[in-house]
Order: sequence, then C-alpha cells, then structure tokens
Amino acid sequence: MKSLFYSVLAAIISFSFLVPTTAHSTEQEEIVVYSARKEHLIKPLFDAYTKKTGVKISYITAKANPLLERLKAEGKNTPADLLITVDAGNLWHAAESGLLQPVESKTLTTAVPENLRDPQNLWFGLSIRARTIVYNTNKVSADELSTYEDLASSKWKGRLTLRTSKKVYNQSLVASLLEQHGPDKAEEIVKGWVNNLAIDPTSNDTKAMQAIANGIGDVAIVNTYYYGRLMKESPELPLKLFWPNQNSTGVHMNISGAGVTKYAKNKAGAIKLLEWLASEEAQETFGALNQEFPVNPSVAPSEEVKAWGSFKGNPMNVKVYGEKQADAIKLMDRAGYK
Ligand code: FE
Repeated sequence: MKSLFYSVLAAIISFSFLVPTTAHSTEQEEIVVYSARKEHLIKPLFDAYTKKTGVKISYITAKANPLLERLKAEGKNTPADLLITVDAGNLWHAAESGLLQPVESKTLTTAVPENLRDPQNLWFGLSIRARTIVYNTNKVSADELSTYEDLASSKWKGRLTLRTSKKVYNQSLVASLLEQHGPDKAEEIVKGWVNNLAIDPTSNDTKAMQAIANGIGDVAIVNTYYYGRLMKESPELPLKLFWPNQNSTGVHMNISGAGVTKYAKNKAGAIKLLEWLASEEAQETFGALNQEFPVNPSVAPSEEVKAWGSFKGNPMNVKVYGEKQADAIKLMDRAGYK
C-alpha cells in the first residue's frame, strides 16, 4: 500500500515536471545569463523579453573578472547560457579563455556593425560607449581642443585629469593608440599625458570630471554616460563634451556586448535572446537605460544622448583592445601612468 502511494506520488511529481517540457518547445526553456552589466540596466529588458515570449531569464550580476573566473571554474557544468559584459577587452578575454562559442546569425551580423563584433562571431557589441574629452567651459574654449594626442602637448601642462590606468577603459584607449601610432609614438603620447596631469589619476571617471569642475585641471577623458549621469544630478556644472580627432581617426569607441557560453545548455534560447537584444525593438532601451549609443545603426540614440551632437567614431575593430591590452598595460607602466 505504502509503495503504491509512493509510486503514485512519484508519478504525480514526474508528471508535473514533464508538463512544461512537453507542452513547450525547447526554445522556451529558461535562459541563464551572467552579466557584468548592472542589474538596473538589464532587468527592464529581460522583463520585456519574458513578457513578449514567455521565456524566463535568470541572471546573476558581478564585475567582469569574477564572472570570467566563475565561468572558468564551472567549465562544462556552468548553468550560464549567455555572458554579458562591458569593454571589448573583457569580451576578448572571455573568447581567448575559451568561454564562448561562435554564433552564426545573419540577424546579428546585420544588426551589429563589423567593427563592433568579433570576426569569429564569438561576441557581439550591444551598445557603444564613446570615450571622449570633457572640459571646464570657464577655462577652456572648444577651439583650443583637437585630439587625444594633443592633450600630450605642453600647452596642457598641469591641466589634465585622468582616471587610473588600472581601469580597462583606459587600457583599451591606449591599445587603440598603439594600433594607430605604433609603440614609440603611443608611448610619447601617454608620457605627455602623465606630464600634464593636474592630480594623481582618479579612481573613476566621475571624480575626474568633478575635479575639473572644481578647478583642478581643465580637461579630462571620460565615457560619455558618466558625463550624462553627472550632468543629470548637477546640471549647473561648467562641463561640456568635446568630440576629438574629427579630422583624423575619430572618437574612441568601446562597447558593452555579449556572447553565448561555450557550454550553454540552452544555446538556441541564448541566441534568440542575443538577437532580440540587438534588434530595433530592444536597442533603443538598451542604449537609453545608460545613456549609451545603440550599436544597431537603424536605431537612433535617446534625446538626451542626441543633444550631445553627432560625431565621427573611430572605425577600428574593437577586438584590437583585447589583442593589445597586455602591451598597453606595459606601456602605461613605463610612462609612469598610475
Ligand atoms: Fe562604466
């Protein structure tokens, strides 16, 4: 009697587990995301996707390095299907460490410009972050500014503030100088920056801007969304963006992006989600949530971002930032950039 009870119970349990998988296609299985993009920037998109498709998304968020370490440690047993992270240098590292798998998708190669995705389709950009010059409007006029390279000239002595070289964004920027100019010229530029510093490098972009707003230094190099965030809080600050290198290489472009994990259990679901994140439907929100630029060229930036004006971006493939990262770190060390 007792055994009959248990077998009935077991049947009920297995039935209740089986119902979802037999009633739905495999595409509707849950998708697991590891994200170095903060929760408030991804949750609204995941909620919209679940509402639209019925597909559940579970996720964890952490900084890029711990997430990559976790993926490595979990190996084949990882529950993660999709990795979202910021900076092409981090995406490149994930790919180099064998944590991602290639995705053949016409939808993705159409939605994401070639220079903002991996040539082997291991990762795809989802938003553009421009790293540009910001200046104190009481102390500098826009016609005094021209290029990143010019910030190394003696006219900026004691007038530049920079974030720490430990931050991957600056490693990517210096990697792009290495690619553009070769090692000697790139080192000369970075040495010139270090010579021109008003204060020791700051721990983040916002502090670099606050310093120049307070008259410590006149110009800084920052990601535009930090400028957007700061000006939203303190619109009275005498700060303005400047688009450098418009007659040469263009503004330094970086990305946030994603790739399907090597051992994804729900590869089909992860690809569908990635395609949706790059689609016109999601791109507007994806960029607007953090005042970034959409990667999808058929989607316009938000009104706030549009107000900063249009500019020419550097068409360099962002993969270079990963390939040259180690050299960039050594160069910054030699140049005394802390
Ligand atoms: Fe950031």
